[in-house]
Amino acid sequence: MQCYDSGILTQEVTKKEVLKKMPALLLQWYDNTRRILPWREDPQPYAVWLSEIMLQQTRVETVKPYFARFLEVLPTIEALANAPEELLLKLWEGLGYYSRVRNLQKAARVVMEEYGGKLPGNPALLEKLPGIGSYTAGAIASIAFGVPVPAVDGNVLRVISRVTASREDITAPQCKKGMEKQIREILPKNRAGDFNQSLMELGAMVCLGNGEPKCLCCPLQSICEGFAQGIAGELPVKAPKKPRRIEEKTVLLLHCSDTFALRQRPKKGLLAGLWELPSLEGFCGREEVEKWLEQQGAELLSLRPLINSKHIFTHVEWHMQGFFAELAEPLPEFFWADHRALEQQCTLPSAFKAYFNELGLKK
Ligand code: SF4
Repeated sequence: MQCYDSGILTQEVTKKEVLKKMPALLLQWYDNTRRILPWREDPQPYAVWLSEIMLQQTRVETVKPYFARFLEVLPTIEALANAPEELLLKLWEGLGYYSRVRNLQKAARVVMEEYGGKLPGNPALLEKLPGIGSYTAGAIASIAFGVPVPAVDGNVLRVISRVTASREDITAPQCKKGMEKQIREILPKNRAGDFNQSLMELGAMVCLGNGEPKCLCCPLQSICEGFAQGIAGELPVKAPKKPRRIEEKTVLLLHCSDTFALRQRPKKGLLAGLWELPSLEGFCGREEVEKWLEQQGAELLSLRPLINSKHIFTHVEWHMQGFFAELAEPLPEFFWADHRALEQQCTLPSAFKAYFNELGLKK
């Protein structure tokens, strides 16, 4: 192990030496133990792009069935570019972060218009497409086109921080830039995509983010400075996030003749354009709900409370309580969805899943 007390220069030299040894160790491990994933074995550009967008903020096991269904229904970039929005949202229902699929389609339309339906392999051109940042551009370019560019996501930042015992704040843009530069210097030119994937795979399977890293079965243990110094669990360093805003809601399942009331969310902002259950701001008591329904002109047959539920978005938490109300007549300001419409037509955010589950309705 190198001594870290002899100045910044020594630290930098040590980091470089450590990193130089990474590709051989990681690629050997990756060749022997990598997971077989549907987008990995035949890395066609459209499939790699789709998988990378779906995998943002979403677990591999969750993505697998969505990925298969999406490609079955929209097998080409052209089909994606021409798909109606309702179908797109339905294919994405439950994955969340719906701006991802909207951007996917915007980008597909640009690819049709400017690149003849073929995704470009140049990372700078990829980064100009809606929804594609430096990580995704690097992943597509290296995995699908073999271009030797880094693809640095949260997994990679964590692994590099630990391997080099870096205490830089990984949420700082200059830290990411620095790590991209370090990886660029060690990328094996003939296996850039595999190397990038091996780093991500190590971060997902061994050098874990939540909980202890599995150092005892790690292929990088012999060169890992974080392990050698006994500080792997303390790394990476991240500036604390701002706490999420909490919004309290009273969710209403208004039921009438085998249909449920839905309304569409505004075209901009959180869950833009999706359908939702009506709700009132704050936690309302039975009397307040009855009064509100009366003001809407509803004839209430029965009212009962439902469970409390919580849904976490990136910057907001919804804390919800619910009521089930049976009405004699449908209220005209809502869309009244029957089971078929709920299953096939209306895309509802998973924030409301708990309420449909409680009523035995599959969403
Ligand atoms: Fe991560 Fe431990 Fe492997 Fe170092 S030895 S890369 S800390 S799992």
